[in-house]
Amino acid sequence: MYASRNPGAILIIEDERNISALVVQYLEKAGYEALAAFDGAKGLDLVRTRHPIFIILDLMLPGMDGWEVCREIRKLSDVPILILTAREEEMDRLLGFSLGADDYVVKPFSPRELVERVKAILRRARGGARRTGEVLRHRELALEPEKHKVTLRGEEVALTPSEYRLLSTMMSAPGRVFSRDDLLSHLHLGGEAVVDRVIDVHVGKLRQKIERDSGRPEYILTVYGVGYRFAEPRDDSERTGGNEE
Ligand code: CA
Repeated sequence: MYASRNPGAILIIEDERNISALVVQYLEKAGYEALAAFDGAKGLDLVRTRHPIFIILDLMLPGMDGWEVCREIRKLSDVPILILTAREEEMDRLLGFSLGADDYVVKPFSPRELVERVKAILRRARGGARRTGEVLRHRELALEPEKHKVTLRGEEVALTPSEYRLLSTMMSAPGRVFSRDDLLSHLHLGGEAVVDRVIDVHVGKLRQKIERDSGRPEYILTVYGVGYRFAEPRDDSERTGGNEE
């Protein structure tokens, strides 16, 4: 059991002990409790027993690799995951696999920057776009900022922090067109070459979770050549006119 005020630990799963030790050192310096696992199996044990608030996961691990570990973590928890990857090419695979990670850092990295990313992701995981606590609704979808909860037809939808942040950003301003760059700035993701695809992958996953037919979205609409917008109430009346894409 935890002491009630303990906000929880950050888990790093990385077999290279010098990297792990450096990250632990920076996390502790920033005031976090850090846990280290040197392989995936031990990492999953710690996810089950210690319920970390954040996971830093290296892809190149002995035994069970980072891909497998990420999939297993997602069966257990929606905890934010930041992936460490040694090569740019892995980023492509990573996006293609849609593993549910929240951010990616390519090695070699600055531990200071890594800790800043961790802080930013934790902030937005706890935050949400609005502080008013006003529940945002459209059709059968509701977003409750105070509970950090999204429901569809009354059923809770499990979103990653990035998906929640994107939905919250767009749903707070129905009809406003967001470019991929706009949306990216709300996610605090880095990496210029992958910018468009990062947003498209997150939007694709969001649609799978909230749309009846992700090929004919009713909530998150594509603005061709620009980006995305959340549907306005008037989109419903237009739809009955049969003129929507
Ligand atoms: Ca490694």
